[in-house]
Amino acid sequence: MKRIISTIIIFFTILTLCACEKQTSEIEGKVNIVAVNFPAYDFARQVGGAFANVSMLLPAGSENHSYEPTAADIIKIQECDLFIYTGGESDAWVEKILESFENKPENMRMIDTVPVLKEDDTGNDGEIDEHVWTSPANAIKIVQGICAMICVIDQKNSDVYEENALEYIEKLRELDRAFDTYFLKDENRIMIFGDRFPFRYFAEEYDITYYSAFPGCAAETEASVKTVAELIDKAKETGAKKIFYIEFSNHMTADTIASAVGAETVLFHSCHNVTKEEFDRGETYLSIMTENLERLRG
Ligand SMILES: [Zn+2]
Repeated sequence: MKRIISTIIIFFTILTLCACEKQTSEIEGKVNIVAVNFPAYDFARQVGGAFANVSMLLPAGSENHSYEPTAADIIKIQECDLFIYTGGESDAWVEKILESFENKPENMRMIDTVPVLKEDDTGNDGEIDEHVWTSPANAIKIVQGICAMICVIDQKNSDVYEENALEYIEKLRELDRAFDTYFLKDENRIMIFGDRFPFRYFAEEYDITYYSAFPGCAAETEASVKTVAELIDKAKETGAKKIFYIEFSNHMTADTIASAVGAETVLFHSCHNVTKEEFDRGETYLSIMTENLERLRG
């Protein structure tokens, strides 16, 4: 009997301790950040470090462009301290939800931190390319924007956030220099994508001429025979050794082009979302972009 009672006491002590601990961390008040997609999530956790609770709305492994928020997601947005979204086509649903809140959380759009480009570079009216983070120079601007927001929300720890941001930006600069060095040695600077093309900002930054099956990355349709034939011609004309495809793609179009010209198919990852495996093994914007660079070199 004594033993049972002491077990029960230990049990309740543990319960009480757990409850206390939870309360303490709530009192300490980590900044609660909800990010709509992977790049926003990764940048926010780099800046927020130990003082922020960062969560990602879009589940790892799912397709960005068909995502719709659940009721639980909407509550999460409403209750957070800072909500970060892209401001493009794939999260057009956000504005309506924010408008419906009586008390809006602090929020920011990544597209507001950089000069925006259209998906289509022919000068036609078209959608803004929302994949602003694909250029490391833009990633730096987004990180600075996120840091400024967090510093306002949690002023007493602003030194920490600024230091985190500076350290991270230095790494992004290194990445930017590494791409610069690579493309400086590549006289042609041509990339052929047998796929969608979420890399307008990347191409602009490094002065790359590109050809792709689709502009942007919202289109889900299969490439036409004409488009494939044109890309094969381009690949022949430029002597392309690599035909690129993007993440979450079946790379059929890229394979067709590559086999027609004797090139290889190579993944170029836009970081728009990561697979469950990539997420679980802790991939970051930096690790994914570094792998992109390795595949260019390889
Ligand atoms: Zn995308």
